[in-house]
Amino acid sequence: MAEAGTLQDAFIDELKDTYDGEKQITKALPKMAKTATTPKLRAAFETHLRETEGQIKRLERVFNLMDEKPKGKHCDGLAGIIEEGKNVMGEDFDETTMDACLIASAQRVEHYEMAAYGTLIAWAKAMGLEDAADLLQQNLDEEKATDEKLTALAEGGINQEAADAARPDEDEEEEEEEVVAARPTARGAAKRASR
Ligand code: FE
Ligand code: FE
Repeated sequence: MAEAGTLQDAFIDELKDTYDGEKQITKALPKMAKTATTPKLRAAFETHLRETEGQIKRLERVFNLMDEKPKGKHCDGLAGIIEEGKNVMGEDFDETTMDACLIASAQRVEHYEMAAYGTLIAWAKAMGLEDAADLLQQNLDEEKATDEKLTALAEGGINQEAADAARPDEDEEEEEEEVVAARPTARGAAKRASR
């Protein structure tokens, strides 16, 4: 009978999964940057692409610390999240709404990564792998900072702009109703009566 796997085996598995996930993200981010309209959002995606490339290098160092060859194992979870993001990019949204949707997709990715790194760090520490834990912590810090930056962009204007973009028609209608209400015509009376 084969020997039962250890936490170290599970750690290497998670590491491979995360390594593959980061590689998937380096393919997705350029498309997201290209789709983004708000310059700060585009810049955030471009910055995170460079960070992600650095994260891959750190993961390779963790593999080396474990005497393992860096190797990926298909990360189905991130593949699903990225696939959903692609579907959203195919939708016909106005520019700022698309930016709000890109942020929503990107934050799902960051939270998934934060969960993965949180586990990897906790396991590394439990096994006394402090050097590995330090490298993984640097990746986690970047994911957290990216998540916060995306929240700041969404709440600092993009969401409101997207909400306002849907309103010009509504404003016109309201103005029209006000004009109608000011002139007590038959049409206005009928409209008021119908409210
Ligand atoms: Fe990452
Ligand atoms: Fe990330």
